[in-house]
Parts: sequence; C-alpha cells; structure tokens
Amino acid sequence: MAPIKLAIVGVGKIVRDQHVPAIAANPDFELVATASRHGTVEGVPAYKSIDEMLAARPEVRAVSLCMPPQFRYEAALAALNAGKHVFLEKPPGATISEVEDLKRIAASKGLSLFASWHSRYAPAVEQAKTYIAASPLKSMTVTWKEDVRHWHPGQAWIWEPGGLGVFDPGINALSIVTHILPKPVFLTEATLEFPENRAAPIAASLTFGNADRLVVNAVFDWRQTGKQSWDIEAETEAGNMRLADGGAKLFIDGALAYEAPEEEYPNLYRRFASIVKAGTSDADISPLTHVADAFMLGRRKIVEAFED
Ligand code: NAP
Repeated sequence: MAPIKLAIVGVGKIVRDQHVPAIAANPDFELVATASRHGTVEGVPAYKSIDEMLAARPEVRAVSLCMPPQFRYEAALAALNAGKHVFLEKPPGATISEVEDLKRIAASKGLSLFASWHSRYAPAVEQAKTYIAASPLKSMTVTWKEDVRHWHPGQAWIWEPGGLGVFDPGINALSIVTHILPKPVFLTEATLEFPENRAAPIAASLTFGNADRLVVNAVFDWRQTGKQSWDIEAETEAGNMRLADGGAKLFIDGALAYEAPEEEYPNLYRRFASIVKAGTSDADISPLTHVADAFMLGRRKIVEAFED
C-alpha cells in the first residue's frame, strides 16, 4: 500500500524532537508538507497556514496538528472539511465540547480522528496495567513534579486560558492512570495553585474515588528543581508497584521488573496508521475530562508570581 501523504501543522518543539523522526522511520507515512507561521522542516515544502497548504496540496490524506491546544479546533475543522484524517497532539483541545464536536464531524465524514496520548505508549505502561489487573488494588499515588523553566522555556501559551498550566504535563499522568486502572475514577477534591500573575495553575493536588472506595491521590508541581519525578505508585493485595520515569520503568516491591527503549512517538504513528487503514477513530477524552473537573471542583489558591 502507498504511504499516507501527511502534513504537519504547527512546527515547534515537539515536531522537531519527536514527530519528524517518528514519521521518517515509518514507511506508512510520507511527510509532504508543513503549515506553520514560522517553523519549517528541512527539505519539506512549507506553507504559512493550513488553508494555504490544503489548497496547494490536495494529495495530502492526513494532518498532524501540533500547535498549542487553544488553536487546534479551527485547524482540525478545516482539515476534516477538506476530507483529511486528523492526528491531534495532546491535549486534544482546549475544551471537552470542541473535541466532542470534532469526533462527531469526523464520524459523519468517515474520517479517522486520533487523540494521541503519548505517555500511554511509554515502555512499561502495558506491564503496569497487567500487574494491577491481577490483584485487587488498594490505593494509587501519582507524583508528577518537574521544573517548568527547564521543560517549557519561554512558552507563553501554557500560562494562558486553555494552556492548562501544570496540567500540560499532568494530563500525561492522567492519560496513563485512565488507561491502567481496571475501573474509572472521578475527582472528589482538588486544590489548584495559581501564580498571582498567571491564568493557569503552577501546581495541583487531586483526589479521585470510585464506587469501590478506591482512592487515587495525585500531586502535580512545576516548581521542582533538582530531581524530577514522574511516578505512579500502586498498592495491591499482591504487592506494590511503581511505574517510574513517566512510564519508562516498572518496579515491583522495589525491584526493577521491566524496562525497554522509549518509543512513544513511533508507537503513536503506528497506531495512527492502523486506525486510518481500519477506517476507525481513537479519541478517548477521559484525561481531559478529569482536568476539566479539576478546574470545576478545585479550590483556587493564589501563590507567588511566576517569572520565566
Ligand atoms: P510550541 O513549540 O510552543 O508550539 C508549537 C508551534 O505551534 C509553534 O512553534 C508555533 O509555530 C505554533 N503556534 C504557536 N502559537 C500559535 C498560535 N497562536 N496559532 C497557531 N499556531 C501557533 O509547543 P510544543 O512544545 O511543540 O507543544 C505543542 C503541543 O505538543 C502541545 O499541545 C504540547 O502539550 C504537546 N507536547 C509537547 C511536548 C514537549 O516536550 N514540548 C511533548 C509532548 C506533547 P509557528 O509560529 O510557526 O506557527
């Protein structure tokens, strides 16, 4: 089968770091165009906007939308209206209802919509899911603490409404939690810490529950210097597991049980190719729903101003 001709929209950090190499290594895709106001990919024809690109390159069959979430709906709508399959970077949008709208439009046109959650494809996530499934779960604790100055230097959009603040990384943890838990949970309590000069939180603590009285506690913090933490710990009747380093390693009762080379974006593009070929969509919004709940239920605490 001929490769799927693909265009990338919104050429920035994640496109350079991950999308371009993952696409280059996948024979199911051929990167034929980019659309971005400033960014380009060497050797690939570049257009300034998605509308210009769609008009100039009718052979494009799919687009990867990699701009910040606040600007993704309009691009996705243009792509779907032009008959293209759509890969949405995480988070899939700025609101739940706009992503639901995209799901409805994609389905009505028989096009594939992919809400990509890269952390779900981290090496040890499936092993963690299997471990948890084998024995009754007693509790879960999520610790996602990183240094925003290191990971997001100069990125203004993350502090704007819809940029999600600390939930930009935190939603990666939630994407894993929603994937590995045997039953869904819902938010019962939250505190969101907003710097006095910003529209998005710099830290959050969350508690989730469910009908089985399972408690999941999560702490997200962007003020972490030194050691960074992206850990999910679970206590089960058979023992304890720690999914560490953002899903890269699994420890059981303190001993390393599984690790493998990281292939999150190659796996995302394998999944996108498979849903395009199958004529289906994969657009789970449960991680975004939990974030929306946190903004709805969370107590708001104002903390000291944040300067880059
Ligand atoms: P970024 O570099 O700040 O933004 C990506 C590109 O989007 C920018 O270079 C810009 O390109 C375009 N853009 C910015 N503002 C725009 C606007 N107002 N309208 C239209 N286009 C705009 O961000 P990023 O780090 O790549 O993140 C993009 C998405 O990927 C986010 O949803 C993020 O959560 C996700 N992601 C990021 C990482 C990471 O490590 N950075 C990891 C995984 C996922 P032009 O100026 O050329 O238009």
